[in-house]
Amino acid sequence: MLPNTMRHVFPPVGKKRTAGKGIGSVTGQGICHAFTPDGRCVSLLKILLTNFCIYDCAYCVSRRSSNVRRARFSVDEVVRLTLDLYRRNCIEGLFLSSGIVQSADETTADLVRVAKTLRLDHGFRGYVHLKMIPGTSAELLDELGFMLTGCQ
Ligand code: SF4
Repeated sequence: MLPNTMRHVFPPVGKKRTAGKGIGSVTGQGICHAFTPDGRCVSLLKILLTNFCIYDCAYCVSRRSSNVRRARFSVDEVVRLTLDLYRRNCIEGLFLSSGIVQSADETTADLVRVAKTLRLDHGFRGYVHLKMIPGTSAELLDELGFMLTGCQ
């Protein structure tokens, strides 16, 4: 079951996006709409830090055995992209997920670095959603949680 914040980002299971019918659209990545807990519809930059992954989940395009091209943003690239798009009024926040590189802690440390740089170095007060990876140490999860809620 997807968490609440993610359910609105992906199209309902079994429904196709039909050009010219209905209202709005969602895509797998890029700038996507999501609903905040208070009911506002916001535009988020929804990207992966990387699509490299050490795991091989059968349903996932980023799985280790997939033959897709691999890429990885640096922390600074994600920060710059987020701030640039925010200043141009294209997004209200960042929805950052990632494949798992080396270990849960290694990957989470990079995700936390993105949030820290945005929040503490640039004073960014927009929405930030980060992936929580099973197996991450309690210390890093505390830091991640603080970056999302405690320092706003
Ligand atoms: S990115 Fe997540 S879902 Fe995809 S293969 Fe890696 S661990 Fe599995």
